[in-house]
Amino acid sequence: MSTPEILVRDLHKSFGANEVLRGIDLEVRRGEVVCVIGPSGSGKSTLLRCVNLLEEPSRGQVLVGGTELTDPDVDIDAARRRIGMVFQQFNLFPHLTVTENLTLPQRRVLKRDRASAARIAAENLQRVGLAEKADAYPAALSGGQQQRVAIARALAMGPEVMLFDEPTSALDPELVGDVLAVMRMLADEGMTMMVVTHEMTFAREVADRVVFMDGGVVVEDGTPEQVIGDPGHERTRHFLSRLL
Ligand code: ADP
Ligand code: MG
Repeated sequence: MSTPEILVRDLHKSFGANEVLRGIDLEVRRGEVVCVIGPSGSGKSTLLRCVNLLEEPSRGQVLVGGTELTDPDVDIDAARRRIGMVFQQFNLFPHLTVTENLTLPQRRVLKRDRASAARIAAENLQRVGLAEKADAYPAALSGGQQQRVAIARALAMGPEVMLFDEPTSALDPELVGDVLAVMRMLADEGMTMMVVTHEMTFAREVADRVVFMDGGVVVEDGTPEQVIGDPGHERTRHFLSRLL
């Protein structure tokens, strides 16, 4: 068996006295799409943020691509470059054009020259179907288009893994589909993805595995058919029934 692309072992995270993650074990293999579902406050965002060390775990290990990010001697900036993250809020720079939003991090972080950064920006805008918006400012775009720019910006960094934290939760319903279509395309291309989402149709159709979290633990981890279609735990059934 190959090493998992993401490996989380006995992960704990506390904020003061509040233990938010209480021993998470999780594997994501290369090319796998894992959807993380669960009630608000169950620790989903904290888990994703620990996977790229935006939050420092209190205990346990996180490995990405075989590198232990929780090793105090690791070059965390180098390790983090393998991981793209997309948030509910798109966090684009409002004073920069779409292209500039994509080229700035490539130039700052990866030290790419202007021409390569522009070429890679154009390729990735094309991928998300927004080539014609290259010179627009974020305010001129719909929320769905802004989120696709944010995805293109992450892709332009050449990540091995993509983390999505409720990427469609801030969008008007009619704009959700275009963003999910881009994520589906990435999944089809073989990107390794962890996706926190309430979009159960997406989870059923695209995820290889679904993880249900509650109270800082993984309650269920299995195929979409198992976890969404035939949940083994009352807590999962209760959560799913409230989504319908
Ligand atoms: P979810 O994404 O599943 O809604 P979160 O991971 O955002 O859950 O939050 C889980 C718990 O951790 C919540 O009780 C929240 O208040 C707490 N929490 C998250 N981030 C912080 C933080 N930076 N400081 C203090 N508490 C936090
Ligand atoms: Mg969250």
